[in-house]
Amino acid sequence: MIRFHCKEAGEALGTNFILCCCSSSSSPNLEDLVLVDFDNWAMETGGHPMKPHRIRMTHALLAHYGLLQHMHVLKPNPAREKDLCRFHADDYVSFLKSITPETQQDQLRQLKRFNVGEDCPVFDGLYPFCQTYAGGSVGGSVKLNHGHCDIAINWAGGLHHAKKCEASGFCYVNDIVLAILELLKVHERVLYVDIDIHHGDGVEEAFYTTDRVMTVSFHKFGDYFPGTGDIRDIGYGKGKYYSLNVPLDDGIDDESYQSLFKPIMGKVMEVFRPGAVVLQCGADSLSGDRLGCFNLSIKGHAECVKYMRSFNVPLLLLGGGGYTIRNVARCWCYETGVALGIELDDKMPQHEYYEYFGPDYTLHVAASNMENKNSWHLLEDIRAKLLDYLSKLQHAPSVQFQERPPDADLQEVDDDQVGEDERWDPESDMDIDDQRPLPSRVKTEFLEPEAKDVGDNMKEDEHNREAEQAFSGSSCLKV
Ligand SMILES: [Zn+2]
Repeated sequence: MIRFHCKEAGEALGTNFILCCCSSSSSPNLEDLVLVDFDNWAMETGGHPMKPHRIRMTHALLAHYGLLQHMHVLKPNPAREKDLCRFHADDYVSFLKSITPETQQDQLRQLKRFNVGEDCPVFDGLYPFCQTYAGGSVGGSVKLNHGHCDIAINWAGGLHHAKKCEASGFCYVNDIVLAILELLKVHERVLYVDIDIHHGDGVEEAFYTTDRVMTVSFHKFGDYFPGTGDIRDIGYGKGKYYSLNVPLDDGIDDESYQSLFKPIMGKVMEVFRPGAVVLQCGADSLSGDRLGCFNLSIKGHAECVKYMRSFNVPLLLLGGGGYTIRNVARCWCYETGVALGIELDDKMPQHEYYEYFGPDYTLHVAASNMENKNSWHLLEDIRAKLLDYLSKLQHAPSVQFQERPPDADLQEVDDDQVGEDERWDPESDMDIDDQRPLPSRVKTEFLEPEAKDVGDNMKEDEHNREAEQAFSGSSCLKV
């Protein structure tokens, strides 16, 4: 573990910072293990838009802007099999561990079953890649739990689409769910905020029925991957109103985005009062992203970091999507500066990837003149609807802790299998008064809708029922 002691910036603010560094020149073993394989993989899969190289570019910018000296930089311990199995199914994790490009042709059924192969290709070093980025996020949570820092950052994490037993959208293991589970050992309530252009479906699904984790996702909705994240999807059972979705259309700009983000997140912080916040900073919501269609500037995107930081609640910053890699590096470098309270010079320092940033060689890039399809009327409707949901949360739920569970130590890699009883169950540590299995509860809700729902739009009820039915029927469901 490599540490650089926190310098004046952090101390002056009374804030400590940790960068969980999954791509560091100060961790040569890790480079050998993962980054060389990244290069091979990038060559073999050529056209795949997810380029792990962007993490290395981000790190180079952080180093040359002099930001590393203001943080503790940690080389994360890889997540062990049993750590991954706190959320993921044992057979899925075993599969990730064993599959190689050479053996994949013999395991076509398994590939299909776990959705590995196309969007989520098999490559050399896949399993250590998963262990590393998950270890960074969980390690950040451990540091926050101990009060060793106030803000922890893992730009290699934030892979929000992975499901309990299924890869999705280049996400193999869900480091965010694992990090939140770690935070829940200490904090009664954890807030998850997702500003990637894609819906944070894997995290939402994992915590859909609990009131201890609130998820809020801002994303493009309508004929767009992964297709979920309707404004009417609000959580289920005890988790009702604890999953929020903000569906947006093409071309949203900084002003429109913040006209939703600040009032909604301000209200969430007021009513939910989380003990820790996890912010997924997917950079595919930036203007000019290769796969995205939003029109946010880096400053507009970073305004979300600035705003969430202003609440002085322990904060875990994670990466996510981002496919115009020079802009991803720019964004996460600038956001590291925002976390540190350091405003960075727009003129970029010379460094090994300098040529990527021509012709201007600046940190910021202008947003485009693309049409903003989000009318003020539409934005007002969305804001009103979400604030209405939030008004139904009268008080922050609490949970009795009997004994603090041990930390994920992540000290050594071993092959321990997790027992079924060790896997997290959202209902096991909550004061749930209704322990009936989910399907019967779903049925009860269908037959006896709550009085306050009766007058609501019938279409909406129908949608919610369909969504709940789909949710309860999923074979990969955690609960
Ligand atoms: Zn994305």
